[in-house]
Amino acid sequence: MDLTSTYIRAVKSLDQIDIAVLVNNIILDAAQQKASDIHIEPWESTVPIRLRISGILRELTHLPHEFLDRIAGRLKVMADLVTYETELPQEGRAPASPDFGNVELRVSIFPTVRGEKIVVRLFDPQNRSFDLDTLGFVSDTIENFKTLIRQPSGLILLNGPTGSGKTTAIYSALCHLIDAHGPTISISTVEDPVEFNLPMISQSQISNSRGFTYPKALRSLMRQDPEAIMIGEIRDPETAAIAVQAGLTGHMVISTIHSDSTVGVYARLINMEIEPFLLASSITGVLGLRLLRTICPRCKVEDQPNSEHLTLLPEGFVNETTFYTGSGCDNCSQTGYHGRVAVTELLNSSETLREGVIQKLRTSKLLDIAIEQGMTTLWQNAMAKVQRGVTSLEEVIRVITVNQL
Ligand SMILES: [Zn+2]
Repeated sequence: MDLTSTYIRAVKSLDQIDIAVLVNNIILDAAQQKASDIHIEPWESTVPIRLRISGILRELTHLPHEFLDRIAGRLKVMADLVTYETELPQEGRAPASPDFGNVELRVSIFPTVRGEKIVVRLFDPQNRSFDLDTLGFVSDTIENFKTLIRQPSGLILLNGPTGSGKTTAIYSALCHLIDAHGPTISISTVEDPVEFNLPMISQSQISNSRGFTYPKALRSLMRQDPEAIMIGEIRDPETAAIAVQAGLTGHMVISTIHSDSTVGVYARLINMEIEPFLLASSITGVLGLRLLRTICPRCKVEDQPNSEHLTLLPEGFVNETTFYTGSGCDNCSQTGYHGRVAVTELLNSSETLREGVIQKLRTSKLLDIAIEQGMTTLWQNAMAKVQRGVTSLEEVIRVITVNQL
């Protein structure tokens, strides 16, 4: 597939371009290619339009510099932002419209020395179902995860880099609770941003500029009698303390946290000055998540991975495995990959692990305990997908840190 914007190809001269139509067409191109984000930014000599597809940025087209301010202006109008403001970051949303593929937009504008950098995130409100069973988790993980979220109290944390499917997994967990309990459960969320509106759930949008911060929202929310609480992200000690407390006092709390590994969330929270014994008693599970691109079925071929990568694997595994990759075709825009699948590791809190946390054992020691207690690691789950020919060894190495062997 030629990635030049459909509209650019259709016009004869750049002078004829109608900016509103151009912007609509860029979004339409992105939506049709199932991109998650559009990046528009001033480089030295051009303004590249890039799309993030299956986690990877790719160039759609390049435009002359004089288009940038007009595109920014148009997107500001669409997202209800201040059009004359060019020196401060702005964020806004635009509702879905048939003019640009029925996707909702979150527009983020950021000043750089060469002009405004624009990132538009696309959400397809029609096409989203939040079902734990369709995320691609292995069945043991789904069952264990469902057991965790159906407990009446405790803190469940999801961990993974941006774009690893955490929001989808967390929304699916909440929808699972609604399916299980119907109108007998009260679920509230505080999020930044609210990405999709879910039925039967009270979702709130944090606004730091108005002082409606995570801690402030959560303190009030505790008086709203919720049974399950979703916190978009734990990123400060105050939010962490409230989340832990809520998990200990009869609420199912689910949230995300950044750390370098699944087991590493304990160290991250200890660094936020949460007492280890509180973590040990409140955290019931941690789910590590990554997304792997899956090999395009139309150009899938056997592959001989490079020897450096093979040295990372046990000899027995190499001998027993037929490796595959995608050679690139029109179906996958010559990338060799089409679609993505989740890969997980679910840490279930156990007595031994809790003792380890209280003793402030190093993350590597906690990992040993988790594996001893039966945790299948991200790497092991990913290797099972390599063995089944779902993804390539190269893709696993790109996404998963090898020290998680
Ligand atoms: Zn292909």
